[in-house]
Amino acid sequence: MTHGASTGARRIYLLVGAVGAGKGTQAEILRERLGLPHLASGDLFRKATREGTPLGEKARVYMERGDLVPDELTIAMFMDELAKPEAARGAILDGFPRTVAQASALDATLAGQGEAISRVVYVEVPSEELVERVSGRWVCPTDGTPYHVVTDPPRVPGICDKDGTPLIQREDDKPEVVRARLAQQVPPMLEVIAHYERAGKVARIDGRGAIDEVTARVLDALGMSQRVG
Ligand code: AMP
Repeated sequence: MTHGASTGARRIYLLVGAVGAGKGTQAEILRERLGLPHLASGDLFRKATREGTPLGEKARVYMERGDLVPDELTIAMFMDELAKPEAARGAILDGFPRTVAQASALDATLAGQGEAISRVVYVEVPSEELVERVSGRWVCPTDGTPYHVVTDPPRVPGICDKDGTPLIQREDDKPEVVRARLAQQVPPMLEVIAHYERAGKVARIDGRGAIDEVTARVLDALGMSQRVG
């Protein structure tokens, strides 16, 4: 074993939330505040495919079909990340585990090295608000600048501020597609929450409101008081 003094003492947090709930944003804020790596499954898989690693080549086939990558590969990837020196003090997991099977396998693997998930933060936002949030996103097809019709609108509706190009909505962000993604995503996510609720690890927080208000709730759920200034 090479985990040294960190084994058993590190903090492994899970951030759980549906598409548009803002968990990625909160995970990034936590990464900066707590100095822990933010391990986002989709990003890690995309990086591996870009770099053409053996894991990336195997994962590519599933990702291109929009399927989940097999549990064995996914768990191996996270355990590799957790074995890196950057994760010696802990990590923030995002996008994994996505099913109870993954959660059980992760728990068993961590238990094998005397560890466990410290806390699960579930960022809750009502489905209709999620649809509004996601379907309000528009992007410039030329330079990729993102806008949001409510929270970050362009100066002229439907037009990129920077180069005047008409904005487009990604196929994935259309309301009917968002509803279909939620219908697929939410049931297994709730099962993961129930799994960790049985272990008394879940903190449910209200994901509505301003980003910093949500951050304050997340920090509170982790037993950390908000530092002012
Ligand atoms: P995302 O960026 O979270 O939408 O993930 C992009 C792709 O990565 C998904 O469509 C899956 O193919 C794969 N992926 C992400 N997270 C997981 C996971 N927990 N288990 C299996 N595959 C995953």
